[in-house]
Amino acid sequence: MRPQYLQDLVKQLQEFYKCPSCDTNYHFDDIRFLGEIDLYCFVQLSCHGCSLPVLATVSVDDKTHGLRKTDLAKSEEAKFALKGEISASEIAEFHRYITKSQIVFKRS
Ligand SMILES: [Zn+2]
Repeated sequence: MRPQYLQDLVKQLQEFYKCPSCDTNYHFDDIRFLGEIDLYCFVQLSCHGCSLPVLATVSVDDKTHGLRKTDLAKSEEAKFALKGEISASEIAEFHRYITKSQIVFKRS
């Protein structure tokens, strides 16, 4: 993941998404990049207005460096919307990865 692309990703998230609860636009500091698996990026959006955490799964198109689709869950406790090539086990493994802050990511 190139830093320039990450900046573009944050800009697009700020431009196209608002808090589903209070309709507030996200600030740069509200957006945290968690990591990526294959062509999917995991981004946490924390609303500065109402503190609602939203986990966004962003499908990345390497050719256009654009966003093809974003699945938003209403909170971290919500079930992930699973689409495309990513599997439930990968999501579970990734969640363990980000919650335990392990250095090495192992696919199941
Ligand atoms: Zn909000």
